Amino acid sequence: MNNIKVDIAIIGAGPGGYVAAIVAAKEGKTVAIIEKDKLGGTCTNYGCIPTKAMLASVSVMEEIENAKRIGLNVEKVDLNFSDVIKHRNRAVTASRKGIELLLQKAGVNILFGNGIISEGKNIIVKDDKNDEIANITYDKLIIATGSTPVKFPPFNMDEVWTSDDIWNIENLPSNIGIIGGGVIGCEFATFFAKSGVNVTILELMPQLIPTEDEDIAKELLDNLKKNKNLNIYCNVKVTECNKNENSNEKRFLVKAQMSDGNFKEFSFDNILLSVGRKPVLPEGIDKLGVKISERGFIEINEYMQTSNPNVYAIGDVTGRLMLAHTASKQGEIAIENILGRKNSIRYSDIPSVIFTLPEIASVGLREKDCKKNGINYKIGICPFISNGKARAMGLTKGFAKVITEVETDKILGVSIIGPHATDMIMEGVTAVSKEMKVEELFQFVHPHPTLTETIIEAALASIDKAIHL
Ligand code: NAD
Repeated sequence: MNNIKVDIAIIGAGPGGYVAAIVAAKEGKTVAIIEKDKLGGTCTNYGCIPTKAMLASVSVMEEIENAKRIGLNVEKVDLNFSDVIKHRNRAVTASRKGIELLLQKAGVNILFGNGIISEGKNIIVKDDKNDEIANITYDKLIIATGSTPVKFPPFNMDEVWTSDDIWNIENLPSNIGIIGGGVIGCEFATFFAKSGVNVTILELMPQLIPTEDEDIAKELLDNLKKNKNLNIYCNVKVTECNKNENSNEKRFLVKAQMSDGNFKEFSFDNILLSVGRKPVLPEGIDKLGVKISERGFIEINEYMQTSNPNVYAIGDVTGRLMLAHTASKQGEIAIENILGRKNSIRYSDIPSVIFTLPEIASVGLREKDCKKNGINYKIGICPFISNGKARAMGLTKGFAKVITEVETDKILGVSIIGPHATDMIMEGVTAVSKEMKVEELFQFVHPHPTLTETIIEAALASIDKAIHL
């Protein structure tokens, strides 16, 4: 068995763990990272990268379908699913190999196996045959073990897919029921619907993506509904999900109480359950004495430190905004604090990005947050149809919305639904994090013609000073 002594041991090599490892190694610390599956974690292997690769295919497809309006005649676009999968796999493999190279270059000791927390400041690493392959002694420990999709009755059957096992399909299904119209549900619905699969979303709450504002969800709904093969039901409570005894019919029978109170039956060959994720804790965590919340997440303070001062936790396992970039930032902050430089994150400055068609991105407060917290706010909206670049590109769906504080004109939040929303949100991130007032943002010259002009117009509109609206 390999005995390794390091300054920092990290369990989990997702976007939290591997970023923390590289940052620490570059600061001169000795680092070991332990991973029981694949480098890159959910983001690289089962989340951000593979979904975005597949969504890139249908996004280009949609652009080609709409190309007539910018003067291009394209007969027909065919989606070849096995080629889309090859493209997806290439993107995933390249990202994973890139992470391995970066870790190696930084001098991080990579161990593949299950990291089990042991007595003292030790971690035992076991391989898939359960043999002990290493004992790591650390000074500080970072837990970055992530999360896994939630599965609960009546959906807890092996045949019900989650976003972890949907990657194994080799052919496009003919139909799919998606339970949960949140981020994962809507991204997969976008891909499958554009690929010609009959899709039905059953969402518990009154709107899709309940974390976003109603007007954003409504705009998404209106656009998704243009896919004739996509049915969306909100305010729906699924009461039963059973395997169909009749093998000549669709595989699953689902009963749900609809928004009008009546019950409706659905039948699907496939089901994707996308109703949230739960934390994954490393074996032996009880030996550390770290506080775990009622919902099973590791509790941390603003410095990413757990109730055990030698143990830090980052990423989904902490239950803060479950996003890859949150995990990476938490990783950087954890290292800063281990190095004695006090630093923390303001979670409200972290953008959320959703890769539907059209894309959605938000940062800071939503209108619903303002209402809940009694904040005196005003909004400005700039539709993309009023933007020269959007019209030139023929991409006029959606709008940018800026929320400002009535008393101060301070920009509290930005939400965008429309072309390149996920890239454009960075301006909102800067404005919200730096607590800029509208006039301050207006000092910056926005290049013309660009989509970014929608953000400044929306900001100006919020204080009744819009120029082009
Ligand atoms: P989510 O919380 O975004 O959405 C879950 C949805 O399921 C909600 O709309 C909820 O109302 C609904 N729901 C819950 N119980 C239900 C039930 N019994 N029947 C019907 N609907 C039900 O969770 P997710 O989509 O599973 O995503 C998990 C996490 O991963 C999220 O934190 C998300 O932000 C993150 N993620 C982010 C991205 C991205 O950044 N683009 C992509 C994928 C996932």
